[in-house]
This record gives sequence, structure tokens and C-alpha cells, in this order.
Amino acid sequence: MINKNYLKLPGSYLFATIGRKVKEYSEAHPEKSIVRLGIGDVSLPLAPAIVEAMHKAADEMGSTVKGYPDYEGYDFLRQVIAAGDYTGRGLDISVDEIFVNDGAKCDSADLGDIFSTDAKIAVCNPVYPVYVDSNAMAGRAGDYIAEKGQWSNLIYLPCYASNNFAPEFPAERPDVIYLCFPNNPTGATVTKAQLQEWVDYANKVGAVIIYDAAYEAYITEADVPRSIYECEGARTCAIEMRSFSKNAGFTGTRLGFTVIPKDLIRDGVSLHMLWTKHQENTMNGVSYIVQAAGAAVYTPEGRRQTQEQVAYYMKNAQTIRTALADMGYTVSGGVNAPYVWLKTPGQMTSWEFFDYLLEKANVVGTPGSGFGSCGEGYFRLTGFGSAENTEEALRRIREL
Ligand code: PLP
Repeated sequence: MINKNYLKLPGSYLFATIGRKVKEYSEAHPEKSIVRLGIGDVSLPLAPAIVEAMHKAADEMGSTVKGYPDYEGYDFLRQVIAAGDYTGRGLDISVDEIFVNDGAKCDSADLGDIFSTDAKIAVCNPVYPVYVDSNAMAGRAGDYIAEKGQWSNLIYLPCYASNNFAPEFPAERPDVIYLCFPNNPTGATVTKAQLQEWVDYANKVGAVIIYDAAYEAYITEADVPRSIYECEGARTCAIEMRSFSKNAGFTGTRLGFTVIPKDLIRDGVSLHMLWTKHQENTMNGVSYIVQAAGAAVYTPEGRRQTQEQVAYYMKNAQTIRTALADMGYTVSGGVNAPYVWLKTPGQMTSWEFFDYLLEKANVVGTPGSGFGSCGEGYFRLTGFGSAENTEEALRRIREL
């Protein structure tokens, strides 16, 4: 018998639908040049310090045998992560609490495996779709109710302009809460005090927070936490995910990590121990070359070069935000995240605005409704394009 939960997933993946629409339009209008500010992929090549480390690692593999890598990651990488992102910032995370992976997407989907199929899941609305779809595939989300654009068994945490796109505590007690700050898609953040309230709440009700900090490198404001472990008590309620995709352009190279503190206990069982079992049995590890490249991100040169790339994308995001605001759009995000979240003009739905921009300005963005029902009437543009394309897209939108 098959897992019928897979059949409950509605339609195709958001970015596949966008890709199809753009392809159809390009085929019908081959003379038009399309500017894409939709998908969250990077546009700059890997920084020189990273490429150099990859070359060196490749040479080493020609002179010494590097067999199966450790499923939890090489110590040389876990050590620089622990020092660079945690202990060096006064945060209490040890090397053996870090699990290296091939990017945050897989773990954000697979972490559900260590929880009961009956666990009650809370997600923000709008949300990075992987948290929802992976829980739906595991049977935790119930049934998809098309009229509402929601799953029957999920707890939704609506994020509106009125609450600055920050979730509020739900009426019903969740077992697992997915939080992502800086946020994809809204670009919103929470202050350390706000995140502390979530940590206190999770500890009080016995919930686990899965904290996705994939966009940590984009934080520019001082009171925005870079890690959930800056909050007191997070070691007993939080798992943190990080990615090398957005801070170092590893979207095609693939590297990330998940932190599970050993103090995180539920049902009398260590979640660190459960995830160790999960990784021992399912994880192939990450290649030596890629882990060596990842370690180069933490060298002084690697840091400087990757920070320059982040600054480049953030400049684009700020340009988009400022230009759209000047044109009279209601915009948020783009300050601590490469995403700008704009209210569609008039009464346009997200997909109507998508078609309008594609057809009239030949600019591609992402419809907010693709991230959940509360994203309806919103639209996401990203700073991940080139500076030239960003300027060109804004020029065309201004002309509209
Ligand atoms: N988490 C969020 C919030 C993301 O937006 C993305 C990618 O867009 C990911 C995780 C996936 O990151 P990775 O490339 O490390 O798999």
C-alpha cells in the first residue's frame, strides 16, 4: 500500500507553477526579455576563498583516501561552526550538538520524523512551504481544505501587517512550532525580547521550536537575535537550522547544519539521541570537498568575501524597498532579510498581480498566496538578482 498522504498535496510546487507560466509567456513572446526577481536563488558565483579551498580539497582527495564521511560532519567543520556562530558569540553550544547536512531544506522536512505522527504542528501563515508539505506527507496535517487554503489539523499562526508579520501564541497547545526569522517570505524579524517570549512559552507548554535561521547573515539591526540560543532557556526547547545557501552562495554546492542541544528532552528521551539515530540510518554525509569549502567561509578572507556578497544582495533589497515605497506601494522586509513583501495594489489577488507584472513589465516575482492563505494580496520580490536586473525591474514597474 502506498502512503496516501502524498496524494493530499494540492497542485504543483509553487515555483514549478511560476516556471510554467513564465515559460508559456516566453514562448508566446520570444522577443521580450524577462527579469526574474522571484525565486530565492543567488546570482553571484562562489567567493574566491571558497573555490580555493575546494581546489585544495580536490587535490587532497587525489593523494589520500577520503572514504565515507561521518554522518554528523567532519570535526574540522563542526569546530569552526561552533566557535564562529556560537561559543565565539557567548552562546552555549558544543561541537557534538552540531549535525552537518546538505542544506536546511532536507532537515526542515525530516526533523518531523523524530516526532509522533500525532504531534500537533504549528506554522506561521504565510510560511516556507516545506514545513507544511513535509508534515502533510507524514500525515500530521490532516486534510487540505481548498476553500480555506489550509490543512485541517495544523495550527496556523497568522502573520499580518497589524502584528508586524510576527506570530502570536495560538489558542490550542502545539507540540512543535516552526519559526523562521529573518522570515521567508515576509522579510520580517522579531526582537530578542519577542523571541524570548516564544522560548518561555515553549518551555511552559512543553513544545519544541524548530527555528530556521537560514537568513541570519542578513540581519542588520542590533536587537534582532542571530540565534535562538541567545534566549535564556532555549537549550531545553529549541532546535536551530542554518544554511550556507544564502550567506555564502552554496545553493548549488549544498551545505547546512542543524543544532540539537543535549538538554532537549521530551517524553523522557533526548531529541539529540533520536536525531543521531535518524542520521546514522539515513544520512549519507556531505562530501569532503564541500565541507572543506564550508570551513573556508569561517576564515577571515572567506568571511570578508561572503559578507560583501550579502551586502550586495541587501543593497538590492533596500533599493527595491525604497523604490516601491516611493511609487506608493506598501512594503515591508528588506532591512534584515533579502526579501521585500509588498501589498498588491487595489484589490488584486497575488496571482493577478503576478500575471500583471509578467505581462505588462516582464518582471517575475512570487505570489504571496503561494506561501499560505494569509499571503493573499501580497507579493514577494527578492534582492538575489543582479544589481542591473534589479534596477531594470524597478524601472519597468515605475513605468506601469
Ligand atoms: N529555509 C528557508 C526559510 C528557506 O527560504 C530556504 C531556501 O530558500 C531553505 C530553508 C533551504 O535552504 P537550503 O538551500 O540550505 O536547503
